[in-house]
This record gives sequence, structure tokens and C-alpha cells, in this order.
Amino acid sequence: MQHIIDRFISYVTVDTESDPNSTTTPSTAKQWDLANKLVDELKQIGMQDVTIDDKSYIMATLPSNVEHEVPTVGFVAHFDTTPDFTGANVKPQIVENYDGKDIVLNAAENIILSPSYFKDLLQYKGQTLITTDGTTLLGADDKAGITEIVTAMEFLINNPEIKHGKIRVGFTPDEEIGRGAHHFDVEKFGAEWAYTMDGSQIGELEYENFNAAGAKITFKGKSVHPGYAKGKMINSMIIANDFINALPEDETPQETKGYEGFYHVHHLKGSIEETVLELIIRDHSKKKFEKRKEKIEKITAKINKKFAKQFGEDIVIAEINDQYYNMKEKVVPVKHIVDIAEKAMKEVNIKPLIKPIRGGTDGCQLSYMGLPCPNIFAGGHNFHGKYEYVPVESMQKAVEVIVKIAELTAQPNYSLPIPKSKKK
Ligand SMILES: [Zn+2]
Repeated sequence: MQHIIDRFISYVTVDTESDPNSTTTPSTAKQWDLANKLVDELKQIGMQDVTIDDKSYIMATLPSNVEHEVPTVGFVAHFDTTPDFTGANVKPQIVENYDGKDIVLNAAENIILSPSYFKDLLQYKGQTLITTDGTTLLGADDKAGITEIVTAMEFLINNPEIKHGKIRVGFTPDEEIGRGAHHFDVEKFGAEWAYTMDGSQIGELEYENFNAAGAKITFKGKSVHPGYAKGKMINSMIIANDFINALPEDETPQETKGYEGFYHVHHLKGSIEETVLELIIRDHSKKKFEKRKEKIEKITAKINKKFAKQFGEDIVIAEINDQYYNMKEKVVPVKHIVDIAEKAMKEVNIKPLIKPIRGGTDGCQLSYMGLPCPNIFAGGHNFHGKYEYVPVESMQKAVEVIVKIAELTAQPNYSLPIPKSKKK
């Protein structure tokens, strides 16, 4: 157990915060600090073909140790941390044999990690938790994933009696700013499928995510002295308000869950002459996703029609850009890759929690780039903030899941795509 703790701590104490305002890859030079360290470590544990490119993408191979042909499986994780909360000077705290009570993260600032607020804590009673000191994030997202992949590879290297096919490992920068997959060379990676080790609590297995688009809506107006404005002034802020009111009021993030999609107005800035509204559109269903985008166009057209005479040109301009798509479309045709992960979890006594992601992962982009890539738990909770923590036992279980997937894939009967019991 100490080994995995030491490894995890050696990663989280390296600051790798990414930066959305940077145009370089990696977005911050400091990500190289951990990237270079990981390259050394992969070589040192005995991985082959360890490469790092000029954008800090790391790849490595664990060669097959069986004679027969086995599909190459990949494991992917990201080494950057979110810019939403500081990741500098992380001082991890170890809580052994957690007693189910409040954990004082920082006595001086009275920062408490409490199970009365974070109920998930209670399922880890008796386990070893790694927390922050209340002043930074922890970085279990996704350094827990990296720890698990490296540890699993090391375990397979040291236990050659466990039979497996060729395994590829990929570590990326800049996932937290949505660019982790952008420069990922799927062809070079050469895996038939992969898993991101980037989920949260133990058992999570995800292969459905949102279809996502962003919209920027610009409203024009006409400024006239308010005392003489009758019939002349057009206030763009009021038109923007009408636009928001035309959106279905119960289809917002705060009113939806599960498979329910939404419109989310997240930015609004205006004056009389111009107001810019930004919103995002999310839906698991491709059809409903398209309908939502049409809805935006329809509201826009309706307002334009209303002001056509008075304004003379389009008073509202809607720009809609797709951001990512539901990986389900790419994963369902190769559903056995989810089934193997599910089976692996059951074999190491984990209850699989299969649920749709209300967001996206690097795996969904990779899936559309030709590498089907479901997401598996890395074990942490409360990502992107000071209450982030990870149970060491969950990390160990994730290591077992990786090892088991490698093992199951190398079994000659691995590729039963649809078990008979599930056939309709
Ligand atoms: Zn992550």
C-alpha cells in the first residue's frame, strides 16, 4: 500500500495546472516537469518503446507475453490539473483507518471535510484516505489514474505468469482545458480500443456522454435619448431577455438529471446597442440535440422577423458550434469492450456503476478519432477543489481492474461480442 501512496504523492506534488488562455501544447511549461519524470519512470519499471513527442504526449508499450493473437488494449490518463483551483504546493494528508468523522483539513482556516456534507465519505470507513491540506486541490484527477496505470504495468512486468496481450499506455497534457485528445496520435498509439482511467468513485464505468454545442448569440440595438425614445430605441438587453424567456424554463442544469438534456446560459454581457449571450446545449440523444439547436435557430428567426421592419437587418445573430458527441455511437458497435471492463470489475469484487456522463471526457473525442474509449473510475471524489480526496483502497482496486482487463482480453474466448443471455 505504501508503494502506491508514495507514487501518487510523487505525482501530485508536481504542479501541472493547465491554462485555457495559452495557445501552446502543453498549455503550461510546468507540465513538462511531470511528463519527463513519467517517461523516466516508465523506462525504469521496464516498459518498452517509451516515447514523448514535442507536445508532451507520452506513449509506452508492455509487449504481449502470449503466443496467440490478442487485440492491443490501451490505458489513458491525463497529467494536467484543472485551472479552476490552485495545484501548486499540494501537501497531501494521509488519514489512516478513517473513522467516519469530520476530517480537519486545515485547523488554522477551519476547513473541514465532513461526511455530513460529503456523504460518500462514509463508504470508506476503515480505509486510508489521501486529502489536501485545505489550500489546494489534490490532483487525484487524474494523477490517481496515472498512478494506477503505472502500478498495474509494473505489477504485470513483475508477475509474468499473468498472461496478457500487448498493452499501450498513453498520458496526455491539457485534458482539463478540453484539449487532451487534440494532438493524440491514435494511429501511433495503435490500440484497438482503450480506457481512460479518469472517472470518480470506485465502480464507475461510463460509455455514454453528452452531445455538446456552444452558442454565442449577439443582439443588436439602437440607442436614443431615453426622453425621446418612443418608437425609436431598441434595447438589445431586453431582446436578450426575451430570448432567454423563450427557452424552456425547466430544461436547465439545475432542473435536469440522468438522460435529460438542457440549455445552460452561462454568460451575459450587454449595453443598449449590443448584448452577447453565451449558452451551451447538452443532450445524450443525437436527435434531441439537433432539435435543441433548431430551437435556438427558431427563436432567433422569430425575433428577427419581429424587428425586420424597424431594424432593417437581422437584429439577432446566432453562432452555434458543436463541441463533442456522445461516444455511445462509437462504443456500442464494439460493446464487448464495455463488457470486458464490467466483467473485470465483478471478478475483483467491485459492483460496476454504469451510468451516463453528464459531460464529456477525452475518451469521447478519442472514440470519434477511431479509438473507442470508455471511462473507468480512478477513485477520487470532489474533483477540482480543496475537498478532493482519494481512498487508497480504490486506487488499488483500479490497479486490479486494469490487470484483470489485460488478463481477460488475452483469454482465447475474449471476443464474444454479445453473450447469449443478452441476445434478444
Ligand atoms: Zn480528469
